[in-house]
Amino acid sequence: MALKIDLPTSAGAFPIRRLRRLRGREPLRRMVRETALDVADFIYPAFVCHGQGVREEIPSMPGVFHLSTDLLAEEAVAVASDGIPAMLLFGLPRSKDEVGSEAYDDEGIIQQAVRAIKAAAPGLIVITDLCLCEYTSHGHCGVIRDGTVDNDATLPLLARTAVSQARAGADVIAPSDMMDGRVGAIRQALDEHGYAETPIMAYSAKYASAFYGPFREAADSAPQFGDRRGYQMDPGNAREALAEIALDIAEGADIVMVKPALLYLDVIRQAREIFVQPIAAYNVSGEYSMIKAAARNGWLNERQAALEALTAIKRAGADIIISYFARDVARWLKEG
Ligand SMILES: [Zn+2]
Repeated sequence: MALKIDLPTSAGAFPIRRLRRLRGREPLRRMVRETALDVADFIYPAFVCHGQGVREEIPSMPGVFHLSTDLLAEEAVAVASDGIPAMLLFGLPRSKDEVGSEAYDDEGIIQQAVRAIKAAAPGLIVITDLCLCEYTSHGHCGVIRDGTVDNDATLPLLARTAVSQARAGADVIAPSDMMDGRVGAIRQALDEHGYAETPIMAYSAKYASAFYGPFREAADSAPQFGDRRGYQMDPGNAREALAEIALDIAEGADIVMVKPALLYLDVIRQAREIFVQPIAAYNVSGEYSMIKAAARNGWLNERQAALEALTAIKRAGADIIISYFARDVARWLKEG
């Protein structure tokens, strides 16, 4: 695809060309705007916990809560009426163990949450994050052998979790663990169990980022030893991100993801130019909390800063934006 560049020539430069002409009034600006946010672009992430009537704000993420399934179902109804098409669920298990058993328990927190949302808001797309780190006692994304995460021993557990989530009614499965070969293993397991029509949204280019800090408090998923640099990507690498995305597509990913979003706009852009598949970008907890904290100090205008940041993610090439601001965006776009 050739780029169309309107380069000024001696015949077409100032004063003939005045780019300010189209910036004078909002209706004109709106008419020529290249990128505009739409509530339909968004996925709203949520954290679900056991219990009844639980609604606990996460201190490092103002406006984001741990919700029990009853209140999550109410939230889902509100999200659907905002016009947001989908939610992405993260679970807080009752107990953790070495192999993350609750992740693939049909009565696990995510499975209960999916059923509750499906009953309350059947039109909403329910996407389940698929990883073991929230469920393992050591906080890593797979099973531990000899002090490290064993890739191939983790795959069957991920596949089992995917089938359990699909059986509970999940519309889309979203593996976030960064094990090699996991998309293929999950695709095969879903197909074998009658879920050939269930799409996979793969966290394909997921970086080992400091900007997940608030999330780890929210999901109680910080590793108990070491870090995740043995499986998540090095922030210095962009070509490797394209290799990750290509492999996930080859293994059957229907939607690919870049995470975090704002610090990796170049990766989103490069992926957009190479791949035809839908690209999701995760506007992560640290990116959210930075704007929230600055706004609380009166240093930034929250609405303007958030809308500008999210527009940048879409302009970079993301089709889908996962953001804790999604419900705010729905309100802001309605207010105009
Ligand atoms: Zn994980």
